[in-house]
Amino acid sequence: MELSVRPMMLGSVKLPENHPRAADGTCVIQGFVVVHPDGAIVVDTGVTDDHDLLNEIYQPTATPLVDALNMVDVDERDVVAIINTHLHFDHCGQNRLLPTVPVYVQAAELAAARLPKFTIPEWAEIAHDRRRVIDGDAEIAPGVSLVATPGHTPGHQSVVVSHGDEVEVIVGQCCYSCGEFSDGSILPADMHEPSFLEQGVASLERLRRLSPTSAHFSHDTTVYRARTL
Ligand SMILES: [Zn+2]
Repeated sequence: MELSVRPMMLGSVKLPENHPRAADGTCVIQGFVVVHPDGAIVVDTGVTDDHDLLNEIYQPTATPLVDALNMVDVDERDVVAIINTHLHFDHCGQNRLLPTVPVYVQAAELAAARLPKFTIPEWAEIAHDRRRVIDGDAEIAPGVSLVATPGHTPGHQSVVVSHGDEVEVIVGQCCYSCGEFSDGSILPADMHEPSFLEQGVASLERLRRLSPTSAHFSHDTTVYRARTL
C-alpha cells in the first residue's frame, strides 16, 4: 500500500477578542491520518465540547475522533500511533479517546504543558506507558519522520511523509496558513513568546528547504502544492 496523508476535520473554535487571530472569527481544527502499511498514524486529535470554561470562551464544535476517522475511511482499530504536533488544547483534546495508542510528543513540549495557562492540563496529560518522548528529529516508521519545529510552542514538531517522489509535510502550526508557508513568513504573535521568533523562523525555513511537494496546516484547509513546470 502506498503511503498517503488524509486531512480530517475535527471541529472549530470561535476566537475570543484577546486572541491574536480574533479578526478571523472562527478557527478550523484539522487533524491528519498517515495511512501506512504498518497501520494508521493520527496527527493531532482536536477538542471535545464538555469542558465548561472552554465552552464559554471558545464555543467549540467537535467531531468525535472515531467519526472523523470514519469519514476518511479509517477504522479506529487500525490506529497504531498518535503524534501531537504540540499540546495546546485544540491538538490533544481527544488523545484520551484512544487510550491504549502510543503518543509521540517532544520532551520540550511535555515540559511546556506544565506551564500555567498553556493548555487544558488533563487533556495534555499522557500516561507514562503510552508516552513516546522524542528529543529532536526521529523516523518513527518507514517514510514517516518527526522534525522538531519549535517557535509556536517550545516543543512543536512537524511530520514529514516521504513516498515515491512525494515529500508531504504536515506543518501543524509551525506557521498558521498556507500563504505564510509560501512566503516563509511568520506572525510574531503566533510564537510562544517573543523570544521564540528566531527559532520559529528557522523552523519554517527548515521545512521549506525540504522542498515539499505538498504541505498541510492545522488551521488552514488550503493545501500547499509545489509549482511544477
Ligand atoms: Zn497551538
